[in-house]
Amino acid sequence: MHYFKYIDGELYAEGVPVKRLIEAYGTPLFVYSYKTLTRHFNAYHEAFRRFPHIICYAVKANANGAILRSLAALGSGADVVSGGELYRALKAGISARKIVYAGVGKTDEEIALAIKKGILMFNVESEQELVRINEVAESISKRAPIALRVNPDIDPETHPYISTGLKKNKFGIPIEDALQYYRLARQLKNVQILGIHKHIGSQITQIKPFVDALERVLLLADSLKRDGIDIRYLDIGGGLGIRYNDETPPHPKELAKALFPLLSNRDFTIILEPGRSIVGNAGVLLTKVLYTKKGADREFIIVDAGMNDLMRPTLYGAYHHIIPVKKRKRKKIVADIVGPICESGDFLAKERQLPAPRQHEYLAVMSAGAYGFSMSSNYNSRPRPAEVMVRNDKYYLIRRRETLQDLIRGEVIPEFLRK
Ligand SMILES: *Cc1c(COP(=O)(O)O)cnc(C)c1O
Repeated sequence: MHYFKYIDGELYAEGVPVKRLIEAYGTPLFVYSYKTLTRHFNAYHEAFRRFPHIICYAVKANANGAILRSLAALGSGADVVSGGELYRALKAGISARKIVYAGVGKTDEEIALAIKKGILMFNVESEQELVRINEVAESISKRAPIALRVNPDIDPETHPYISTGLKKNKFGIPIEDALQYYRLARQLKNVQILGIHKHIGSQITQIKPFVDALERVLLLADSLKRDGIDIRYLDIGGGLGIRYNDETPPHPKELAKALFPLLSNRDFTIILEPGRSIVGNAGVLLTKVLYTKKGADREFIIVDAGMNDLMRPTLYGAYHHIIPVKKRKRKKIVADIVGPICESGDFLAKERQLPAPRQHEYLAVMSAGAYGFSMSSNYNSRPRPAEVMVRNDKYYLIRRRETLQDLIRGEVIPEFLRK
C-alpha cells in the first residue's frame, strides 16, 4: 500500500504531481512518500503492540537522514551494520538504547565507538568477534551488551543473494553450536548477555520460514535457561517482503498473529528489524527517456537512470514496475529498459511490455525506496541523484544532486603531477 497514484492520467506522490518535482529537481530523482513511510512503521507498531517490542529499522535499506528522522520521531530504533550507519542513526536522533549492531566484519574502532555510545546490543556473528568485543570493552573499561546471531538453517525461499539463514551463508553462528558460545560469553568479564538474534533473509513472502526459525530459536532460549542463562531480548530480524510484481507478502499483522502463540507466556522484549517493508514501496525513481532504438533483436528504451542509481535489477534480476509519469494512449511494445552505463548488465527491465514511451518523456520505477539510493554508486563518474520527500501537498529536497566537483572530492594529486 502506498500513496503514488494517477489523478487524471498524471502520476502523483501524495498531493504533488511528480512532474512538478521533475521540473524542480531534474532526473534521475528519488521521491519518497512520508505518509507511506509512516504508515508502514505504524503498521508494525500496531501489529506487535501486545508485546513489549522495539522496532529497529534496518538503516541499510535507506539511510537518508530525513527518512531516519521521520522514523525516529515515531519511536523507531535502528539496526546498523557499520560504524557509518551508527553515526547516521545517532545523528538522526535515534536513541543509542534502541540501536542493535549486526554484521560479520566489525572493526575494533567500530566496536569501541558503539560501546562508548551505549548501544542496546551487538548482534555477534562469530566466536572471534565475541572474544574481540570482550577485549575492546576491557580496553576501555566497559561491558559490552551482546546477543549471538544464530543461523537457524531455514530456507526463506527467496533470492539466493538475499538468504542469510542457511548453513552455507556467512552470517551468524550455527544454531547447534550456540549453547557452547553462550557458555563462552558467560566466562567473558566484559560482555553482558542480553539476547538472541536471527535474521534469515530478505523479501520473504511466506509466514512459514519466520515461524520455523522462531521455533528453533525458542528451543535455544529454553536450553540456555536450563543452563542458567536468561535471555531478555529476542531479536527476530527483518526480511518481510513487499509487492514488486505479483507477490502477496504477509502484512505485519499476519506475521504477528502467526508468532503470537509461540511468544505468549514468555516475557521477552521482541526486537524487529524491518527495512524493505518500511521504505520499499515508499519510494520511486523518476527517469527520463533519452533515446529509443530498435536493435537487431529487440527494442531498447534508453533512460537517464542506470545500475549505478538502482542496482537491484542488475544484482538480483529484480523486477520493478515501470510506468509512465503521464498516461497516454499508445500501442504496447516489448522492450528492454536500459541505463546509460557501459555495461550490458545495466538494465532496469528486460523484455518488458509497456505503452511505447517516446524520447524525452518520463517514467517512474516503482518500489525503489529500499536498496535503491543506499546501493547507488558513482560508476561511470555519474553524480548520484537527488532525493525528495513529499508530505501531503508539500515537498522537500532531502539530498541535493551530486555535482561534478563532488566526483573528485577527496582525490589528492601527487606533487609531481601538479603544474
Ligand atoms: C538487511 C537486514 C535487515 C533488513 O532486511 P529487510 O529485508 O530489508 O527487512 C534486518 N536485519 C539484518 C541483520 C539485516 O542484515
